[in-house]
Amino acid sequence: MEPKSPKYLGIGYLKKHLNFIKNSSYQGVGGIWKIGASKSGPVLGITIHTHGNEPSGLAVLEYFREKFPLEQRLKNGVVIFSLNNIRATERFLAAKNTEEKMSSRFVDINMNRLPDNVMRCNKNDSRYEIRRVQELKNIWEQFDVGFDIHSTTQENDGMIMNIGAVHPQLIRGFPITDIITNIENVQIAKPAVFFYGNGSIPVMGIEAGSHESPQAFTRAIACTEVLLKNLGMIEGGTTTNDQKYREYFVDSSLIFPDASYSLVKQFKPYEEVIAGQKIATNGKHNLFAPLTGHVILAPSGMTVKNLDEEVMFFVRPPKITIFE
Ligand SMILES: [Zn+2]
Repeated sequence: MEPKSPKYLGIGYLKKHLNFIKNSSYQGVGGIWKIGASKSGPVLGITIHTHGNEPSGLAVLEYFREKFPLEQRLKNGVVIFSLNNIRATERFLAAKNTEEKMSSRFVDINMNRLPDNVMRCNKNDSRYEIRRVQELKNIWEQFDVGFDIHSTTQENDGMIMNIGAVHPQLIRGFPITDIITNIENVQIAKPAVFFYGNGSIPVMGIEAGSHESPQAFTRAIACTEVLLKNLGMIEGGTTTNDQKYREYFVDSSLIFPDASYSLVKQFKPYEEVIAGQKIATNGKHNLFAPLTGHVILAPSGMTVKNLDEEVMFFVRPPKITIFE
């Protein structure tokens, strides 16, 4: 049975923390909560709600405000919490049904599928996310390390979404052992994290679990706490036991050419596929698996709402890695 979410993580509480960060600003940018220690150290950017319907990020905010007040326990450096997509998050928390929740992922465009020229778009661009990304840019650029918290439609044990090189010293002790690599080179357009730091900082995301599951909230909180420890920003060491990771290299994606297509079945997280296997169809044309491996980030049904986004991704069979 699904454990009940603790009371403090109910919608009312999440709204309270959304209001807090919405009304916090740093350097004139709203939706930013900045905590600085007196001793210098790294600038850790923790970004939440890049997608409106992914409340694990607000659970992390709640934790570091009330359960583990970061303002008192930060030893050095600066932590910048950025609630990336404020308007979509407001919609999510005001949603009355599943349909409304699902359409609160973004307002005008997906913040993880940004056009290359996003920073050169008109300041008065009609798309909310374009204007928001432009105002967040100066904040994002200050990060020395970027950590972006997400969740998925289907339940899973969590995934570390690695961008660029894997940083074993930062993920050591995370309660997640599946690492996804190369997605940034396969996905359409640019994810928000592309604009973090100076372009060469360690950046990673997590998919904490399914959007509203208590396990996802707990996992997101645990990862963030471990990351702060690994960076030496809060007290406490993390386990140094050799941990076995499964590293999945993203090879390609599935995109529906138009709305007439649907998957031939519902795919489970990491479901195995064989090269040439029929994956989707519109009755006339079929789409096939390009490799023998697995699928990740599959939708919870057989159809998708947003055609400008991948339906799911194909990953190679995992490589087992043990970091020294
Ligand atoms: Zn997301």
